[in-house]
Amino acid sequence: MANEVNPFESMQEQGDDAAAYVDLADDVVERLKYPERVLELNLSVEMDDGTLERFEAYRSQFNGDRGPYKGGIRYHPGVTRDEVKALSGWMAYKCAAVNIPYGGGKGGIKLDPAEYSDTELERITRSYAEELRPLIGENRDIPAPDVNTGQREMNWIKDTYETLERTNEPGVITGKAPDSGGSAGRVEATGRSVMLVSREGFKYLDKDIADATVAVQGYGNAGSVAAKLIDDIGANVVAVSDSSGGIYDPDGFDARAAKDHKNETGSVNGFAGASEEITNEELLTLDVDLLIPAALENAIDEAIAQNLEADMIVEAANGPLTPDADDVLAERDVPVFPDILANAGGVTVSYFEWVQNRQGFYWTEQKVNNELERFIVAAFEDLIEGYESHDVESYREAMYIVAIKRLANAAKEGGVWP
Ligand code: GLU
Repeated sequence: MANEVNPFESMQEQGDDAAAYVDLADDVVERLKYPERVLELNLSVEMDDGTLERFEAYRSQFNGDRGPYKGGIRYHPGVTRDEVKALSGWMAYKCAAVNIPYGGGKGGIKLDPAEYSDTELERITRSYAEELRPLIGENRDIPAPDVNTGQREMNWIKDTYETLERTNEPGVITGKAPDSGGSAGRVEATGRSVMLVSREGFKYLDKDIADATVAVQGYGNAGSVAAKLIDDIGANVVAVSDSSGGIYDPDGFDARAAKDHKNETGSVNGFAGASEEITNEELLTLDVDLLIPAALENAIDEAIAQNLEADMIVEAANGPLTPDADDVLAERDVPVFPDILANAGGVTVSYFEWVQNRQGFYWTEQKVNNELERFIVAAFEDLIEGYESHDVESYREAMYIVAIKRLANAAKEGGVWP
C-alpha cells in the first residue's frame, strides 16, 4: 500500500541512488541521509471554549552547509516526525538543485485547520512560533508556507518573532503578504516553475506543448496555478482533482473557472464546465500528454505506475512518486521531471523575498518572474547536463547528482569542526 511507504526512507534512497554515480566518501553520503537536528513539540493551546488542546509539532533542520536552513511549515493531520524529516531533506536537495544559498528545513503541525476557528489557528501558530524562536532567524532558519499555510500564518509568525525579539527582521520568514514584506509573484511561484519545467521538458523531448492534454491531481495553490499558466501557453487542461474527487472533459475546460468553482464551493466537483466526474485514481491513469501530481507524497505507487498512461510527469508536489513507482516508470521509459526542480519556484521566490527584505528594496512582479525563469531554466540545463553525462535511469537521478555534488562540495570546503 502506498501510504505505508515511509517518505524519509524514500528520501534516503533517492540520495543513495544519486551517490552511486558520484565519487563520494561514505561518511559524506551518510551525513546527507539524516537531519542535523529535529525539534519535537507538544503545544498546549487554549481553544475558544477555554479548554486546552495538545498539538504535535516539529521542525527539522536537515543540512546547513550551503546556507541557512530553509523550508515550509505544513498544517495537516498526516504530519509525522518522519514526514517532516523527509521534507527537510528534499528541501536541502531542492535548494542545491536550483543553486540558491540555503540548506534544507521543514516544519509541521499535526492538525486539520478546517476544524479550528481563525482565533484558535492564530494562537496555535503563535505558540509554535514562540517555540521556534531560538532556532530561527534570517541567518539561521527561514520558514515559509507549505500545505494549508499561507500569508496569514507567515505574517503571524513574523509578528510573534519580531515582538519577542524586539526587532524588525522580515527576512526571518518568507511567503508573507506584500504589506508585511512579502514579494510580488511569491504566491504563483511554485505553479510558475511547474509550467516552466513542463515547457522546457516538452522542448527537450521535441514535443509540442500547444494542445497537449494535461491532468492535474491536487488543486491547491501549486496545482491550480500550474494549470492556469500551462493553459496560458497553449496546453489543454482536461482533468483536475482535489481530495473530494475529480472532473474530466476530453475537450478540456477553463482551468481558472474550475478554480473559481472550488473557491466558491470548497471542491472542484460539480463544476459545470466539465462533462464527467472521476476519482483521483482514474485521473492518475488517464491517457494524457502530461500528468502533474500536485497533492501529497506517495500519490503514485507501483500499481498506479503500472497502469499510468500519461506520456510525461512533472511533479508539483513533494515526493508524489514512491521509489517503486519511479522504478516502474523508468522501466517503461516515461519521463518524470522531479519535484526538487519542478516545484522549486516557491523556494526560489522565497529567496528573492529574503534578498529584498535584506536590501529593503522591492522588485516588480516582472523582475521576479524574469529572475525565476532564469534560475529554473539554468537548473533545467544543469539537469540535462547531468542526464547526458551519466548513464542514469531517470531525470530524478540526474538532478540529485547535480545537487549532491553541490552539497558535498560545500561540506568539504567547510571542513570538519571540532
Ligand atoms: N514549501 C515550499 C516547498 O516545499 C516552499 C519552501 C520555501 O519557500 O522555503 O518548496
